[in-house]
This record gives sequence, C-alpha cells and structure tokens, in this order.
Amino acid sequence: MSYVLGLKCKECGHRTAVSPVHVCEQCFGPYEVEYDYAKMKGKVTRESIARGPKSLWRYKDLLPVATETGEAGSAVVNDAALTQRVVEILKKKLGENNVLAKKPVMGSEDFSEYGRTAEKDPIFLFWLGAVSEEKWREAERSGKALPSLHSPFFAPDADRTIKTGVEATVTACMELLGRR
Ligand SMILES: [Zn+2]
Repeated sequence: MSYVLGLKCKECGHRTAVSPVHVCEQCFGPYEVEYDYAKMKGKVTRESIARGPKSLWRYKDLLPVATETGEAGSAVVNDAALTQRVVEILKKKLGENNVLAKKPVMGSEDFSEYGRTAEKDPIFLFWLGAVSEEKWREAERSGKALPSLHSPFFAPDADRTIKTGVEATVTACMELLGRR
C-alpha cells in the first residue's frame, strides 16, 4: 500500500501528482514526496521495514512508485579497516579537522556490488564538502539544509571542491597502491 499523497515543492509548497518530475514548475525548487503520516502511524514502523526483503523493496511503503520491478541497487557498506586507513591518509594530507565522520545514511552506488561478491573487495565511499565554510556555518546556524547535489540550486565552490577532491582521491590511491 502506498502512503504517498503526491509531490510538494520544498521552496514554495506547490503540489503536483506523482510523476517523473523533480523540479517545481512554479519556482524551480526541488519536489519532495508528501506522505500521509496519519495513515502510516503504527503500520510503517522500524519493525515492518526490517521484516521486508533485503533490498530497496523493504521501503516499498515509502516509495512513490506503484509496482515492484525487482531491480534495486545494494547499499554501500564501507569496509571498516579500509575506511580507517583512508581517513588517516586524508587527515595527514588535508588536516586533522578537515576530515569528519558523518552519521551513517542508507545509500546505494553502482560500485556497492564489488563489496558483495565472493572476493569481498573492500570498498569505501567518502563525501566531499562543496561549499565555502561561511555557507556551511550559516546553514548550521539557520538549520536550513544546503541544496543537495541533485538540486538545481546546488552551487559548489567549484575550484576548491575539484582541487580538494582530486587531491584526496589521488593521495588515497597512491598510498593504497604503494606508490609515492
Ligand atoms: Zn516551487
């Protein structure tokens, strides 16, 4: 059963039916799924989700789609030892205070499958900060979330973001591959 009421613009509140759109036609803000929380109460719970299949479809009640396709990406599970190793490498390169642990979130990427084969290749995903410290602090102060990278309002500090991302990736790879 779906508890989805429709889509609602995060910026101006404009509502529209569920359809393959993600940008508001009134203000270009991002659409978010609107749920019937009253109906969900007591029915969609941690337990009901835990009982579901070990795939994306355990979240079926929260998805704005009507049918199961059987297609789903697996969650990224960071390998603990690899993560610790890369964190140390990045802290040395970027500075102790510039590498932060974030609360875990449920997310899927194509490469998550590599960690699930018989070889169990260790995998690791890190996020790259993309806005100035000023913007970051302002968002923390106001509690207003910064636009995600899928938002039309995503505006990274491009030069510094690319430089830091390349530096972090290359440094980690060189260390892991045993070259200096
Ligand atoms: Zn809007």
